[in-house]
Amino acid sequence: MSVLVYVPIKEGKATKAGLEAASYANAISGGSATAVVTGNLDGDGGIGSVGIGKVLAFSESLVDNSQIAKLVDAAASEVGANTVVFTANLEGGAVAPRVAIRLNAGYVAGVTGEPEGSNFPRNVFSGKAKALVNVSTDKTVVSVTPNAFGIKEVGGSASVDSFSVDVGESKLLIGEFTPASADGSVPLPEAERVVSAGRGLKGPENWGIVEDLARALNASTACSRPVGDMGWRPHHEHVGQTGVTIRPDLYIACGISGAIQHLAGVNQSKVIVVINTDPEAPFFKAADYGIVGDVFEVLPKLTEAINSLS
Ligand code: FAD
Repeated sequence: MSVLVYVPIKEGKATKAGLEAASYANAISGGSATAVVTGNLDGDGGIGSVGIGKVLAFSESLVDNSQIAKLVDAAASEVGANTVVFTANLEGGAVAPRVAIRLNAGYVAGVTGEPEGSNFPRNVFSGKAKALVNVSTDKTVVSVTPNAFGIKEVGGSASVDSFSVDVGESKLLIGEFTPASADGSVPLPEAERVVSAGRGLKGPENWGIVEDLARALNASTACSRPVGDMGWRPHHEHVGQTGVTIRPDLYIACGISGAIQHLAGVNQSKVIVVINTDPEAPFFKAADYGIVGDVFEVLPKLTEAINSLS
């Protein structure tokens, strides 16, 4: 299988999700995949560490999804790729279908593992079932669900070749760019640990105990939808069916009931800890560990215990 992977770059390095997509590409290609990137690269951006031998680097940083699609299309022709891999994030979700149309390829969004023949696994019905999607076209475009496959470091470095192609004029102009996580915390889709809270916190003035626990665990913070809707927390922290989907190693839910729409965005987390005063709260059914208790008593004790370990 000849495989090309588009790896998003941040500050010269491959993003965590990009390294995961590159790991996937390396696995399904049997170690022969090529990466394509845009913008300034620091060395090979760490891409060689997951087994990729060659990087095609387009020096200009692109923000227009149509331009990125043109670039990836050209790179796929350059290396004769029959499979193109993306990350299943906002950018991947916008670029991958465009590339699929350009290549006349079948597109599978959000794959979770290596294909079985030409059948690609993906989760459906909010993670309650697994579908095997059969691709019958000669070419395939897939996007990899973050935290589903993992980063498989094998060591090594990649050669970097500059790659230039006419991608046309950008139809977008970014006037101002303010990262949502201006405090330096990891963006939610990439976070390995998340402390999340719901209406059980009673009001925005009480979020200090959530942030203290998150700081102790080096975790990012999230919230349920009503908390975002009421303006207690910024909307980009809202997880669930209509918010961000996450798959961290650890998800701690504080004062969240566990409605199906909330679970849809978090139930693929590796370990779920639920803290709730109501022993009948539905979230306990999805929990690996549960504490029936008041967040105002439990969170400070948990934070103190974790801090005492370091
Ligand atoms: P509540 O349901 O009010 O639960 C609060 C919980 O806190 C309760 O279980 C209570 O026992 C507990 N509690 C109270 N006090 C304490 C205390 N002192 N200590 C510990 N526990 C305490 N929701 C999302 O989160 N994400 C979504 O993406 C989303 N999408 C939706 C889409 C649609 C179409 C619809 C209809 C709904 C959606 N919802 C979503 C809303 C969802 O149905 C729930 O209403 C919401 O998740 C409930 O939020 P909550 O658990 O914070 O609040």
